[in-house]
Amino acid sequence: MNKNMVLVVEDDKAVRNLIALTLDTHDYKHVEAQSGTEAISLSLSYRPDLMILDLGLPDIDGIDVIRKTRTWSAMPIIVVSARSDDRDKIQALDEGADDYLTKPFSVDELLARLRAALRRLQYIQAPDQDPTVYQSGSLKIDYAAGCVYVDGNEIHLTPIEYKLLCLLAKNAGKVITHNLILKEIWGNAIPADSPAIRVYIATLRKKIETPMKMQLIQTRPGIGYRMLKTGDDNGEE
Ligand code: CA
Repeated sequence: MNKNMVLVVEDDKAVRNLIALTLDTHDYKHVEAQSGTEAISLSLSYRPDLMILDLGLPDIDGIDVIRKTRTWSAMPIIVVSARSDDRDKIQALDEGADDYLTKPFSVDELLARLRAALRRLQYIQAPDQDPTVYQSGSLKIDYAAGCVYVDGNEIHLTPIEYKLLCLLAKNAGKVITHNLILKEIWGNAIPADSPAIRVYIATLRKKIETPMKMQLIQTRPGIGYRMLKTGDDNGEE
């Protein structure tokens, strides 16, 4: 039994029906949008768990849908597009899409990527000590709102920085290897020209670590990164 809500954004009726039927037969709830503006309004009203997005839409480009969605939501976005050029894929992924499938696509592959994206989401959102808020010294992550605060001031993170931070915070105290980061953040589609993980870590550190505090993210050279587990000052592990 599946309770995930999927938003299907596709102006081509045949493709939309195919995806809708596939979701129906696999017990996913879904809503359908035929344009970019409809996609944005439905994602705000239905709060779906995942978006399947076509790029060639009649009103605004799918890339703009990704950009707008990422200002308030970290939900996985799987692009299903006829555009097969590397530059289109890179742009979509850089703007915050999680995965990219080229038309014509196999429904089995779409389902597998959907499961993978939802698994990653579950991993990132897995309830640990507190399912909605992470607090560590001056750093606070409000998972439900997708907001990050340092000393009470909201800071702006890119979608990738946010996912990276959530991954480390949800696993505070554990070393997260480079491979796991690649798999969890970029899934099956790592842009070839994407900066190295250490570049993302460096900018993330600049944003969340204040000069006077201890380093929150520790580097394990050749292995990965570890977020300090805090709460020592109030008696927790
Ligand atoms: Ca289209």
